[in-house]
Amino acid sequence: MIIGIPSEIKDGENRVAMSPDNVLAFSSLGIKVLLQTEAGVAAGYSDQSYVDAGASLMLDRGELFAAADIIVQVQGLDVLSSMATLAGYKSVIIGASSSPRIFPLLMTAAGTLQPARVLIMGVGVAGLQACATAKRLGAVVEAYDVRPAAREQIISVGAKPIELDLDTGESEGAGGYAKEQGEDFLRRQRELMTEVVSEQDLIITTAAIPGAKSPILVTSEMVAAMKPGSVIVDLAAERGGNCELTQQGKTIVA
Ligand code: NAD
Repeated sequence: MIIGIPSEIKDGENRVAMSPDNVLAFSSLGIKVLLQTEAGVAAGYSDQSYVDAGASLMLDRGELFAAADIIVQVQGLDVLSSMATLAGYKSVIIGASSSPRIFPLLMTAAGTLQPARVLIMGVGVAGLQACATAKRLGAVVEAYDVRPAAREQIISVGAKPIELDLDTGESEGAGGYAKEQGEDFLRRQRELMTEVVSEQDLIITTAAIPGAKSPILVTSEMVAAMKPGSVIVDLAAERGGNCELTQQGKTIVA
């Protein structure tokens, strides 16, 4: 059995599918691991650290694919799901530190601070972890997803599902993923969400449709109606973003 770890080729993708520790776990079982030269450098792992863990380096990507029985990559489903969990966690940490608000309810001698309000839009793998993380920080957390199945998952992590007067019966497709919604549906969703959005201190958006551009859930008018200092972290930025103002990799102040 030979495992191959190629470099990630997508722009801005700094992760690598296996750390040297992961490689050691396989190589100590006698499983051979091939690593494309410098595949781990952007993630902070030198070629030497992989060699020390038992991997062999390969310069040529084509030869690596030909030699390996199994290819392990980040832009592959299972690893990506795990990374989505981390992205959901980190989005709340980044959002909370960018916000002027204190997240938990604090009762002090000098007065009481109300908890921050957090809205998660799109409650798949990343969104669910974002709900749980915001809840652990002490915020009041609400969440919305087009898939009816997400409702009980939202409740299971202590967040409140938002119910909209929209027909979502056909919203779930193969593999549990959402199906693409028409523009009428999205316009109605935005109308119904406008007031809830305006009340939030932090919004995390994660809504994605496999193979399609991300739906716009928050327009610039909706952003304008939010309180000064409110923060949106758009995890769908890579595929166009859920907020109209989103530019991938940039912090936009509006
Ligand atoms: P994703 O990253 O493709 O999308 C994130 C979320 O956005 C989804 O929950 C989706 O329903 C939601 N969304 C889409 N349009 C929306 C809209 N207009 N408004 C609000 N929300 C919207 O999804 P994901 O996080 O990868 O997972 C979604 C589901 O698929 C989960 O139930 C997950 O367990 C399942 N899943 C399946 C596989 C598989 O191999 N089949 C792998 C991973 C996840």
